[in-house]
Amino acid sequence: MQYRRISKNSNEASILGYGCMRFPTKNGKIDMERTEKQIMSAIERGVNYFDTAYLYMGSEAALGSILHKNGVREKVMIATKIPPYLVKSRKDMEKIFETQLQRLKTDYIDFYLAHALQDIKGWEKAKEVGLMGFLEEMKKKGVIRNIGFSYHGDKNDFKVIIDDYNWDFCQIQYNYIDESNQAGIEGLQYANSKGIGVVVMEPLRGGSLVGKMPEEIKGLWDKADVKRSYADWALRWLWSQPEVGVVLSGLNDESHIDENIKVASEIKPNSLTEAELKIFKEVKETYLRIMKVGCTGCAYCLPCPAGVNIPFCFSYYNSKHLFNNKHLVFQYLMFGGGATGGRNSLASKCIECGKCEKACPQHIEIRKKLKDVKKEMEPWWSGPLLNVIKGILKVKGLFSRGKKEVKDKTI
Ligand code: SF4
Ligand code: SF4
Repeated sequence: MQYRRISKNSNEASILGYGCMRFPTKNGKIDMERTEKQIMSAIERGVNYFDTAYLYMGSEAALGSILHKNGVREKVMIATKIPPYLVKSRKDMEKIFETQLQRLKTDYIDFYLAHALQDIKGWEKAKEVGLMGFLEEMKKKGVIRNIGFSYHGDKNDFKVIIDDYNWDFCQIQYNYIDESNQAGIEGLQYANSKGIGVVVMEPLRGGSLVGKMPEEIKGLWDKADVKRSYADWALRWLWSQPEVGVVLSGLNDESHIDENIKVASEIKPNSLTEAELKIFKEVKETYLRIMKVGCTGCAYCLPCPAGVNIPFCFSYYNSKHLFNNKHLVFQYLMFGGGATGGRNSLASKCIECGKCEKACPQHIEIRKKLKDVKKEMEPWWSGPLLNVIKGILKVKGLFSRGKKEVKDKTI
């Protein structure tokens, strides 16, 4: 493992950070046994930065209990976040902060972030309710060691927010597809020039830079002299930039931990060759050409009052284009249309209330894009077809079995 300093107030952090947003689950709950094994294995191999949030369901409590049980709290640094849009008063902040300390079974937080700032308006609101004053007080008391923010807006507002406060660190979405998107490389270098450490989230863009690849993109990677996995390439691109501090990876699969730790141990700054950088550029251009919606699958837009499963709709729509696979229309209808037991959560259910767009960190015009999804993925015959399938499954008594099997089916 290699380490980089992201704040003068704390020890050096492992360049691979443990993203705790999605721990492995079993029967709908966090699988504590497996999660503990994974966390302890990562710590043994040098990972010392753990990122969670008040809003990540069950994550703070699971992390706290595992660190406490194994007596390793002092070996690691915990980053967690407060959602500024949920706090209206000092009392709210105290309540959330106290809850977090209890869940995490600790009496201090190493890295504390205002969660998901999107623009200057949100930043002004956070200041107005007194969030920064509260955090400074906690820092003086020693219960918070570093103050930062996570960010999903554009680079101009990012720079204003960076300049408007004495931040210790910040967290941005960054990967080779998003090089010029959101804060982007410009934001990364700007924060760095001000001595503010940068933590990177979404290094694999919600998983869309790994797994099954469209033939066109696979062909580009095949041109590289050295054969590497897609995750290896994506992480290498980040860590070869010395301005990148910690990269958060959702290490919820044993093979991910091994692979990520291997890259984190061997990567050197500025180590990508000209030929490799050229491939990254071509891959990026190809992705942006064929991907229809820049959805990362984060699900911040849910729940939708009309029941639309927005990331599901975009995932199938993108996949149809990435893999040029018409059969995905049928799967989209089957799994999203309620034919196999779940409720209908297709794009056509959207009532255009706009709630989801306010929450989307990627600023996707969700209503407009859902209309495109509907047009292409829900042809005129989809309604009658779904009714026929539902009828057949009901008669055959397959309804409940199908429901269980396809509940979490995504691609
Ligand atoms: S605009 Fe449509 S998809 Fe978005 S929350 Fe409203 S009903 Fe749901
Ligand atoms: S539409 Fe936006 S908020 Fe919803 S899952 Fe995609 S990126 Fe996340």
